Amino acid sequence: MIITFLGTSAANAFPEAFCKCKNCEQARMLGGFSLRKRSAVLINDDLIIDLNPDIMTASQIHGCSLTNVRYCLQTHPHADHLDLSHLLSRSADYGTIGTPTLNFYASAETLQRASVTFERDLAGYSLLSPNAETWLNLKTHQIEPLQPFTFGNYHVIAFPSNHAPGMGAMLYSIESNGHTIFYGTDTAALFEQTWQAFHLFQIQFDLVILDHTYGPSQPGSDHLSAHQVIEHVHRMRQEGLLKSNSRAFATHIAHEGNPAHPELVEFATKNGYEVAYDGLVLEI
Ligand SMILES: [Zn+2]
Ligand SMILES: [Zn+2]
Ligand SMILES: [Zn+2]
Repeated sequence: MIITFLGTSAANAFPEAFCKCKNCEQARMLGGFSLRKRSAVLINDDLIIDLNPDIMTASQIHGCSLTNVRYCLQTHPHADHLDLSHLLSRSADYGTIGTPTLNFYASAETLQRASVTFERDLAGYSLLSPNAETWLNLKTHQIEPLQPFTFGNYHVIAFPSNHAPGMGAMLYSIESNGHTIFYGTDTAALFEQTWQAFHLFQIQFDLVILDHTYGPSQPGSDHLSAHQVIEHVHRMRQEGLLKSNSRAFATHIAHEGNPAHPELVEFATKNGYEVAYDGLVLEI
């Protein structure tokens, strides 16, 4: 699988639009890898995780077309992860041609919320109605936690995230051709049920991507902090959940407590993980 990081920031991007904190100012001064858009990844050229507000910008900046995307795994409906206006642009009414059907996978709660927002604010019809399927060239799929499902060459398991109670937030394990990725944002410390499920499904990861909203001197809350990322990677290694050549990357990085990219990389390297940046391409 080829994994392209379309964005690696937390909710408000990094630097934040209106913030003059030390970390934002440092990122503005350094530019390059220190400039982060909202978190999403593209896998090969046909699977995207999260239709966030920045995916078009990312596609243009990083030279990765989204026109072949036919699957989306949606983590949850928070605004930094889901911008429903992307779906309108799929309509033939707007002149869009040649796009494959988009299979949109999300929990019942995420679909329900997305549907209400879409109908109220954008289209006047429900995302779950036959109209949506016809007019947006879209197929929605309701997924259940811990119930494996398959599409194309991908085998996916959704894990309930410790984040946004009631919104059905999901974390994903994605396997293809014997290689497995864990996409773990947004989340606080993983539920014990999730650790048990990793073992139950006998998963070994080649690549782990984890929420790193808070920095080295901060506690976690509804998201992971740097020290919790270190603990999670350590536990995964100890419990045999990582292949010997596996890599662990931080994403969803907020200005709160996280320095600009070079300094964060220094901290991460000392502590056994890596820091993703926008446009980073990995092959596993
Ligand atoms: Zn988020
Ligand atoms: Zn700031
Ligand atoms: Zn969130």
